[in-house]
Amino acid sequence: MPSAELVQEAARQMVICNACRYCEGYCAVFPAMELRRAFAAPDLTYLANLCFDCRDCYYACQYAPPHEFAVNVPRVFAELRADTYRDYSWPRLLAGLYRRSGLAGGLISAASVAAVLFLVLVLRGPGVLLSAHVGPGAFYRVVPYAAMVLPAVAISLFGLAALLGGAARFWRDTGGSLREMLDGRALLRATADAFTLRYLGGGGAGCNYPDEGFSQARRWLHHLVFYGFLLDLAATTVAAGYDHLLGWPAPYPLLSAPVILGTLGGIMLVAGTVGLLVLKWRSDPAPAERRMVAMDVAFLLVLLLTSVTGLLLLALRETGAMGVLLAIHLGMVAALFVTLPYGKFAHLVYRYAALIRSAIEQARA
Ligand code: SF4
Ligand code: SF4
Repeated sequence: MPSAELVQEAARQMVICNACRYCEGYCAVFPAMELRRAFAAPDLTYLANLCFDCRDCYYACQYAPPHEFAVNVPRVFAELRADTYRDYSWPRLLAGLYRRSGLAGGLISAASVAAVLFLVLVLRGPGVLLSAHVGPGAFYRVVPYAAMVLPAVAISLFGLAALLGGAARFWRDTGGSLREMLDGRALLRATADAFTLRYLGGGGAGCNYPDEGFSQARRWLHHLVFYGFLLDLAATTVAAGYDHLLGWPAPYPLLSAPVILGTLGGIMLVAGTVGLLVLKWRSDPAPAERRMVAMDVAFLLVLLLTSVTGLLLLALRETGAMGVLLAIHLGMVAALFVTLPYGKFAHLVYRYAALIRSAIEQARA
């Protein structure tokens, strides 16, 4: 659970906001706050995970530092979110990865790439890495089928279980029941809000990000990353169907569904992650929280490297560089999926749960 000092500080700021209510049109946090008179740790955890860090309330606030009330809602909520990810991680042993996201991301990426290269050297020998391989099944001539598929399935299932387990505990601890979780209307509302990134629009003019000027840049860059990721997942799913159901092993022609979806998704991911890294670099540190910044940067860099190596593999798949690029790309994909439940990706799960709760509460209000 968050420290008593952090809970006390967040509750102090919420009491001030509840008396002021100037920011109630900016996002879902303030209408949810207005339904409460007291703010215990579960209420604050819920409110913090509704916050999109748009910073509109920080720059609009007459009580922000240097005022003696020192209201800084995005910062205190970012601290609470970082604690949420740590507290709800499973297994607990790996919660430390959240504390050192940058180091963990770098070490896990390097170890994953080294492991795949080592595996190829042991199973296939060094010659395979530097020769050209073309035609159906070319990738399996570098990395054997079982070595490619089995670890991918195991890592994905483990990540899914870790994220869903965390979400279930978050839902229970913030007062939710199973019946509420199955509320169709709330699910629809929350899904629409999540897919449109509604609250990154602030009150309509956009986020105050990277500074006090209003901008829609952060919202559009998040769209690129979110939908680019979904397109790449779709590309992998279609390719798996081709391979396992139809018996058509990769690589596929340039105008096939997996290549078109994967290329589009990869380009969107590169544009989105680079744009978000630039915005983060230029952003005002005053409403930011150190652990959350490190988590954001680590996740964006791993995602960027995974996308770049995927695009390079596509461009050079018929050359002698294919073997090395395939090993590096598979290593980066493994690192991405191993770190997903222990980094910034976790916010998707907790924020979606908070959006469902918000939709339920607002329908009842
Ligand atoms: S952030 Fe500041 S301006 Fe906004 S509701 Fe709270 S106290 Fe009022
Ligand atoms: S930073 Fe944005 S999303 Fe977070 S509480 Fe303030 S206005 Fe709402």
